[in-house]
Amino acid sequence: MEDTLFAKIIRREIPADVVYEDDETLAFLDIHPNNPGHTLVIPKEPAQNIFDISDEALSAMTRTARKIAPAIMRAVDADGMNLVMNNKKAAGQLVFHAHLHLIPRFADDGLRSWPRKEYAPGEAGAVAEKIRAAQ
Ligand code: AMP
Repeated sequence: MEDTLFAKIIRREIPADVVYEDDETLAFLDIHPNNPGHTLVIPKEPAQNIFDISDEALSAMTRTARKIAPAIMRAVDADGMNLVMNNKKAAGQLVFHAHLHLIPRFADDGLRSWPRKEYAPGEAGAVAEKIRAAQ
């Protein structure tokens, strides 16, 4: 049996502020929100992240995200929304059950995105070629 925090939330062994549920997914409020209404959508099927999730579970997760995103926007009167998925520790993943963050955004809410970098001349083409070759 999967022993992550989110598996326990699915089994209702840990409480959560659930905002949506269907056969394949669950959505609940993040306990440490970037903004009020910050919601996590998870598949019920066990998967760690984008690298092992099934096509079906990924589809279900994004379907639920699109279903509830307008409701979150309306509920907190947001101006925009970020969808974020952290995959593996280096990307900031703390809970190893796949999840999508739905983060409502407000004009001038002070949240900053990551700094942007620059490619050296020719570097972008070489990186793109490596990605094509790795598929
Ligand atoms: P990540 O860094 O993408 O793995 O995000 C995990 C998220 O889960 C964090 O934003 C936490 O605030 C959130 N979290 C941790 N424990 C709980 C919990 N019991 N209920 C709701 N959200 C949680």
